[in-house]
Amino acid sequence: MATYDPNNIFAKILRGELPAQKVYEDAHTLAFMDISPRAPGHTLIIPKNPARNLLDVEPDDLAHVAVTSQKIAQAVMKAFGADGVTVQQFNESAGGQVVFHLHVHVIPRHEGVSLKP
Ligand code: 5GP
Repeated sequence: MATYDPNNIFAKILRGELPAQKVYEDAHTLAFMDISPRAPGHTLIIPKNPARNLLDVEPDDLAHVAVTSQKIAQAVMKAFGADGVTVQQFNESAGGQVVFHLHVHVIPRHEGVSLKP
């Protein structure tokens, strides 16, 4: 597996070098809107510490990401009047990962509405 690239897009967002629509931040995690949402309210949760993906993240950082993902899932359910929520996470190119800083997708869902591709 490749190593962590500090010039990935989400590292730049964390350093304030690229803009993002932030919705939640604490000492360990950041949540911001996906630039190309698959449904309204599509949010990404990342650890502040460097981690390429689930395969190399430190357990403590993973725990913080999990807790923030739950917070965001509960928040988007309310804010978007959703019927459910999809939580997705991809690892390495073969696993569908495009940005190589660990992130969790939280996507509000409505009955009978498919995700955009
Ligand atoms: P994945 O690596 O999980 O396959 O997908 C990366 C996700 O990051 C995609 O949903 C994509 O829309 C999102 N994304 C890519 N570049 C940016 C960006 O510059 N800003 C934000 N907010 N999201 C991005």
